[in-house]
Amino acid sequence: MPPVATGPRYCRHCDIIKPDRTHHCRHCARCVLQFDHHCLWIGQCVGWRNHAVFITFNFWAGLFCLYNMILLIVHTAKTPKVDGQQVALIVVSGLLFLFTLVMLFPTHIHLILSGKSTIESFQESAQRRRENHALAEQLGPCNVKGRRAVLKQWDTEWGGVDISDRWVFGTKSQLWKREMGDNWIRWILPVGKPKGDGIHFESNPRFGPNGEWLPKEAWPTVAAI
Ligand SMILES: [Zn+2]
Ligand SMILES: [Zn+2]
Repeated sequence: MPPVATGPRYCRHCDIIKPDRTHHCRHCARCVLQFDHHCLWIGQCVGWRNHAVFITFNFWAGLFCLYNMILLIVHTAKTPKVDGQQVALIVVSGLLFLFTLVMLFPTHIHLILSGKSTIESFQESAQRRRENHALAEQLGPCNVKGRRAVLKQWDTEWGGVDISDRWVFGTKSQLWKREMGDNWIRWILPVGKPKGDGIHFESNPRFGPNGEWLPKEAWPTVAAI
């Protein structure tokens, strides 16, 4: 039950063959290299070109909102009359702080260290749904024993297929540098260029040249994941 990529992917909107990890964004009406997601807040896509900048942006924006919120709370506490505008600003700053620094920033750090984009991280759950559907069709919805046996057989032959691991290659440090660059200045400031060309990525050795998950016996002896 291996997931098989069937040849090149084609974008019918842009009339191009889509490189690996590229997806079409309907908001921007174009294909985006190493597509992560379309961000309504910055009004554009996050992908290969700006992912590192997006992360530093979230970090500094979150810090600024926190600073702003604390400053306003201290100021409001000192004034005898409560100003509605200041209270509203405290609430907005607090919400933006939570959204950027508490939610988005650690989520994207986790994604980088996992070697996946946001959209790729959803592939695993979609794959599990397809598997469950196929098993239910083949064995019936209540055949727990049969289901367990098939899953065990798949695991023996294929070793726990996870299609979203296609581009997971290397150590956590390598995955971090692949995305954020080698220079630590780029890790904290929006400077420099992204690595590579956004088209070619090193593939997980458990996948074949066409993106097909290889059977366990064809895996390299030392898997670099
Ligand atoms: Zn397209
Ligand atoms: Zn977009």
